[in-house]
This record gives sequence, C-alpha cells and structure tokens, in this order.
Amino acid sequence: MTNKYRYFIGNWKMFGDFSSLKIINSINNYIKISKTKSKYNRVIFCVPNILINHFSNKLNKSNISIGAQNCHQLNDYGPYTGSINSKMIKSAGAKFLILGHSENRREGETDSLINKKIRSAIKNDLTVIFCIGETLKQKGKNTTNKILSKQIETGLKKIKNLQKIIVAYEPVWSIGTGIIPRNKELIKTLSFIRNKLNKSFKNKSFLRIIYGGSVNSKNIGALSTIPDISGFLIGGASTSAKKFIDIMKNCYM
Ligand code: PEP
Repeated sequence: MTNKYRYFIGNWKMFGDFSSLKIINSINNYIKISKTKSKYNRVIFCVPNILINHFSNKLNKSNISIGAQNCHQLNDYGPYTGSINSKMIKSAGAKFLILGHSENRREGETDSLINKKIRSAIKNDLTVIFCIGETLKQKGKNTTNKILSKQIETGLKKIKNLQKIIVAYEPVWSIGTGIIPRNKELIKTLSFIRNKLNKSFKNKSFLRIIYGGSVNSKNIGALSTIPDISGFLIGGASTSAKKFIDIMKNCYM
C-alpha cells in the first residue's frame, strides 16, 4: 500500500438530524473494542452542515473525524444566500471536505469551479476528498481515462502536493445502484489514476486513492484485495451503524 492508513469515509448526503449521532457513537464503540485491528483505520463521517459543530464537539476525543460535503468557492463572506465557505466549515469543527461529488457535478459544478473550492479548502487546512469518475455514457464511449485525466488536471491545477488530498474514484454508474466495477476493471482504472498523479506530484507518500460506489459488507472483501487502495467512500451503507461496522469487519486490508 502506498499509504499505510485505511480510510472508511461515510457520505451522509442529505441524511440525519441531531439524534443520528447515535449511529456514529455505535461505530465509535466498535472501533474502541477492536483496537488492534483498527490501528491504521481512519474513520470519517461527512455530514450535513447543520450537524458539523455538534457532532465534532461530541466526538472530540473519539477515533472519528467529521467532514462536510461541499462548499462555496469564495474564501470570504459574500452575498451568496444559502452558501457556506470552507473557512466557516473549518471553524465549525470539520477536518475533511468532499468536493467534486458527481451529484454536485450533475447540478452544473465544473472542473474549474471544483479547483477553486479545493484551493480554498486547502487554504483553510481542510483535507479534501476529491471525487472523480465517469458516467455510464462516457464509459460506453471508452472515454473513461480521458474524462478522469481532465477532472484531475483541471481539478488539481495549481495544487503543489497531495498532502491534503484524498482522491476518491467513484464511477457515477456505481453510486447508489448496487453495481460495482469488476476487480480487473477497477485495478486498471486505479492504476491509470495512480500513474497520472505520480507524473504530476513527486511525493508519493502523500498519494491516497480510495474507491466509492455501492460499497457494502458483501463486496468489501473482494474490493479490499485490490492493490494500493487506501480505503472507501461509503454512501448509503454509512447511515446504518450495523452496515458500516460489517464493512469494517469484512475488510481484509
Ligand atoms: C457516494 O455517493 O459517495 C457513494 C459512494 O454512495 P453509495 O455508497 O450509496 O453508492
């Protein structure tokens, strides 16, 4: 493995209220009792903005960190109704931030807008979970590598190193569908991404590439045998303590 840590990152999307902390507390209890196995595990929950401050205060001394799911690109206050910037996210207690998720790209977020958001997040000392991935149509046209290249090149423009970036490969056709790529196919795409990043960023110790898309307790076994994978971004299954714990239990890494 390029990086010794294994990331289990929950993406709650538009899920949860204050009482949902009990889900994370159960997962935290599991982490405590399985200490030896989890020495290199890093567990992060990216929750709706309204929950960040409460959850990060409550989990302050725990093994779990809190993240957000998107931000405005401006690194300052401004007239953008309903928006929140990375400085505000950081001050609320988040340490991580998902950017470039396909659900936001689908709403019109461009690679260059994502780049502005990434730069602002790094300035505010947040670690970015940078999502990239092709749609089914793009895959059908055999343009996966071309799409990933563009997302990486523009998304990471003017970024000096990958110290504050975790790259999440999430094929759009796999998110929420129950369909995952075949291991062979995934190994090929992840190695394309790795080579691409290695060409632009010299310090290989920072390189972390995770996979996301319909990860569950049944497919995690096979997924975790993929060489050099640094972890998983987990959507639907991260809103259930049992499902999330079962994923951690069945992971071979
Ligand atoms: C996601 O949306 O980032 C994701 C991985 O979702 P799911 O696990 O539900 O496919």
